[in-house]
Amino acid sequence: MSGVRQRGLCWRCAQGHVGAMQETLVSIWTRTRRTLEAAGVEFPVNEARLLVEAGVGVSRLDIITDPRRPISDAQAANVTALAERREAREPMAYILGRKSFWTLDLEVNADVLAPRPETELLVEFALGHLNTDAPARVLDLGVGSGAILLAILSDRPRAEGVGIDSSVGALAVARANAERIGVAGRATFIHSNWWRDVEGAFDLIVSNPPYIPTADIAGLQPEVALYEPKLALDGGEDGLDAYRAILDGLASRLRPGGVFALEVGQGQAEAVAALAIDHGFRVGPHRLDLAGIPRVVTGKLTGPD
Ligand code: GLN
Repeated sequence: MSGVRQRGLCWRCAQGHVGAMQETLVSIWTRTRRTLEAAGVEFPVNEARLLVEAGVGVSRLDIITDPRRPISDAQAANVTALAERREAREPMAYILGRKSFWTLDLEVNADVLAPRPETELLVEFALGHLNTDAPARVLDLGVGSGAILLAILSDRPRAEGVGIDSSVGALAVARANAERIGVAGRATFIHSNWWRDVEGAFDLIVSNPPYIPTADIAGLQPEVALYEPKLALDGGEDGLDAYRAILDGLASRLRPGGVFALEVGQGQAEAVAALAIDHGFRVGPHRLDLAGIPRVVTGKLTGPD
């Protein structure tokens, strides 16, 4: 390690000159934290640590227990490159290539929306509706990374799922995640624009569709506005285009007694519930997220269960 110490890369001028400060786990963490702070990111301490872990190839425990461990020039350069991406406000999920959701560690890239914690509410509802031991068919419209469908399949071993998406890139991510999680044998992924290529009927139909009004997208935080796929965000002029498309085909694809659950944006629950009622559904109580915002609209067909 002493050789590395003498040839240390000067972090500022990026040249290896004699006597340059030796970069260590703690020094690169501090420097990265300052870069992120100056860029206005919300959680600079934690994110800087995650970037050091990824760029150096160490664990959190290494950083905490051995903070003065020297790192190589190549490792320092890796961290600097990752920090520059975050400085440009690229989402952490894309930089790290993964995101935790439910009990899963999902692979993600810029072809998919990074799964959000509030979407776990939809998973919770779905699991409450499916018996652990009963077979069931589940459809996820706009499957993206696979977050919702794969969380359901991993907790309901007899369930089978279909995930559709109009993005070929997203389907590749969802398939890879299904393989990694070990549920690929029970999951089918179909390239489809909403109902166009969907066949059969389902006990449960879920979706977290694009719901941001087109004109609002540019004003969202840069992580979302600049990096997340427009296809996954853009809900048309009033944000409700996807709900109209989904509700138009929903009734004919639900098995008797089947239910649907749709995630909605802030302030959209009443409008989506009204649309569902117009399409002949009985709507259940809205599910509130941790901020008290109605997040999930659920319903079933009227008539005997
Ligand atoms: N179903 C995926 C998720 O909830 C993708 C949703 C989307 O792209 N709008 O994360």
